Amino acid sequence: MRTQVGIVGAGPAGLLLSHLLHLHGIASVVIEARSRDYIEHRVRAGVLEQGTVDTLREAGLGTRLDAQGLRHEGIELRFDGEGHRVPMTELTGRAITVYGQQEIIKDLVARRLDEGGDIRFEVSDVRVDGVSGAAPTITFGHDGRRETLECDFVAGCDGSHGISRDSAPAGALEVFEREYPFAWLGILAEAAPAVDELIYCLHASGFALYSMRSPTISRLYLQVSLDEDIEKWPDERIWDELAMRFALAGSDWSPTSGPIIDKGVTPMRSFVTEPMQAGRLFLAGDAAHIVPPTGAKGLNLAVNDVRLLARAFDAWYARGDDALLASYTHDALRRVWRVQHFSWWMTQMLHRFPGDDEYGHRVQVAQLRNVVESPSYATALSENYVG
Ligand SMILES: Cc1cc2nc3c(=O)[nH]c(=O)nc-3n(C[C@H](O)[C@H](O)[C@H](O)COP(=O)(O)OP(=O)(O)OC[C@H]3O[C@@H](n4cnc5c(N)ncnc54)[C@H](O)[C@@H]3O)c2cc1C
Repeated sequence: MRTQVGIVGAGPAGLLLSHLLHLHGIASVVIEARSRDYIEHRVRAGVLEQGTVDTLREAGLGTRLDAQGLRHEGIELRFDGEGHRVPMTELTGRAITVYGQQEIIKDLVARRLDEGGDIRFEVSDVRVDGVSGAAPTITFGHDGRRETLECDFVAGCDGSHGISRDSAPAGALEVFEREYPFAWLGILAEAAPAVDELIYCLHASGFALYSMRSPTISRLYLQVSLDEDIEKWPDERIWDELAMRFALAGSDWSPTSGPIIDKGVTPMRSFVTEPMQAGRLFLAGDAAHIVPPTGAKGLNLAVNDVRLLARAFDAWYARGDDALLASYTHDALRRVWRVQHFSWWMTQMLHRFPGDDEYGHRVQVAQLRNVVESPSYATALSENYVG
């Protein structure tokens, strides 16, 4: 088998790259470890920056997004039992759209397959070789056979636990990372959201986030300890803890509860790989960098990477111009590090760290109060949030 760009991983990065390349007339094959059904129902991110929505619309992927996406023009910061709205659109002219990552995956898979795209699901034992030369290969098991895909380039879009990063020559890549001493317990509930916009909440017991995926599905998170045992969180305890952290002074407001259809604990981590390329291997999305979800940026960064990468491959195939491929890392990292800072800033402002005392909590409240009272701070937060 031969293709122009071999893509490892059918997450948002790999599938969107394949679609954008197709629009430029460049062939690709996507190989994916999981089944189509699994990736189309894997619940992850859901907050799209304006630029992400624009990219998807320009690529002809806006139909369901426009019909089902929820446009939000602000967020609430809640602390000390008070809610404060940050009017992001008023401050920046831009907005976010809430649309589940699994819906983007469904749109992309359907579109690629309708247009004759080649996606191999449920592959195993993937290897990427020869990225230092002009003819890299991807070998993998599929349908009981061992296949070899010869490519001009390999795009490593296989997430943070993928194998692409390790295919770079030894010593070619450096990793910068930070682990946070807590995790998020996330639930998906069949419950109409009690709010129209996301709430980011600081409470003495820890952070909580109120978000939604549709007018009937809520997505809520609680800060928990790193080694938290999900078995110790029956549904009733989760709803009680959410009600306690989101409580408003002088009001009996609380989240609308309903059947919990999914729950899990996600550790919080940041890492950045530099450079994001080695020879003919280019890394994009979570394969190259991770942020804690507090800034809602992981998916948006993945989209930005592949937008740059598609443009660079187009320049190479259309004009033999390798300047954009050569500057891919430089071009992508500017935004990656901006987002690393924003995600770290939101995380440290809104979480209770082990060993924090009342002094630390009061400093966090003072910081939040400054953000909601100072137009400059509120604008800076909004600019970063909407992207
Ligand atoms: C549990 C969870 C919750 C999250 N919540 C949020 C959130 O609320 N907000 C937010 O902004 N971000 C969130 N994120 C981050 C966001 O989902 C990611 O940033 C986004 O999925 C990145 O897309 P990607 O295509 O780079 O990687 P992925 O979506 O991880 O896709 C990589 C793909 O590669 C496949 N793969 C892996 N290894 C191989 C292999 N060896 N061979 C072939 N295929 C392989 C995987 O199965 C996967 O389909 C969350 C992530 C997780 C894990």
